[in-house]
Amino acid sequence: MIPDSMQTIRDNLDRVRRTISAAAQRTGRSAADVTLVAVTKYAEMESARALVNLGVVTLGESRPQQLVDRSSQLPNEIEWHLIGHLQRNKVRPVLQVATLIHSIDSMRLLERVNQIAQEIGITPRVLLEVNVSGEDVKDGFSAEDLLSAADQLASFEHARICGLMTMAPFSEDPESARPVFRRLRELQMELKPKLAGTHELKELSMGMSGDFHVAVEEGATLVRIGRTLYEGLDRPDKS
Ligand SMILES: *Cc1c(COP(=O)(O)O)cnc(C)c1O
Repeated sequence: MIPDSMQTIRDNLDRVRRTISAAAQRTGRSAADVTLVAVTKYAEMESARALVNLGVVTLGESRPQQLVDRSSQLPNEIEWHLIGHLQRNKVRPVLQVATLIHSIDSMRLLERVNQIAQEIGITPRVLLEVNVSGEDVKDGFSAEDLLSAADQLASFEHARICGLMTMAPFSEDPESARPVFRRLRELQMELKPKLAGTHELKELSMGMSGDFHVAVEEGATLVRIGRTLYEGLDRPDKS
């Protein structure tokens, strides 16, 4: 990678980290409570490598095949998170490399993950994707469905449900995401007691390039950031 590009990514990463810290501080949280998931789905392999060289340890991919391919090309210490839709026939290879799946968007998929996990003898960490805004185009559980399915959720013994994930509707105004993020946090509070003793619902995965400062203010423990990390590259990575 040419030095200029490395410097651009370094500056972008610094800016993102400072924004996370400031947002955490404003709400009495610590930046250490927020994990940056650097989304590499648009990025060239070079950029992903640069991020790793700059100390990023958690990378997110939205396509299962790309996650599997890239995980074999970067150091083993990298934590790979799947953030995009998982087809049932891709569960097995993904479970072998991903350390967290953010995008469990149906009970059928959760059942499948739990079953494969049992077969291969692992206890993978997963998040349930919630369609808070109720947009037709979005995958995920509705808040009502999750609350009424609490007993079933509690019965999964191999997949460990570690929290919830959501995407806010696209908007130019980051503030419009706030009610969505707040609702996800409320849902976490409502669901937690119902799953007490079975699943630790600690994580909230919310916030992307346009709205992650709002997400951190509203309690995000994981932010999924792509575009803004690659801004200003001479040959912008395709999106
Ligand atoms: C692409 C993607 C992101 C990152 O979005 P940016 O706007 O590039 O920061 C986050 N979450 C999911 C689910 C995505 O697909």
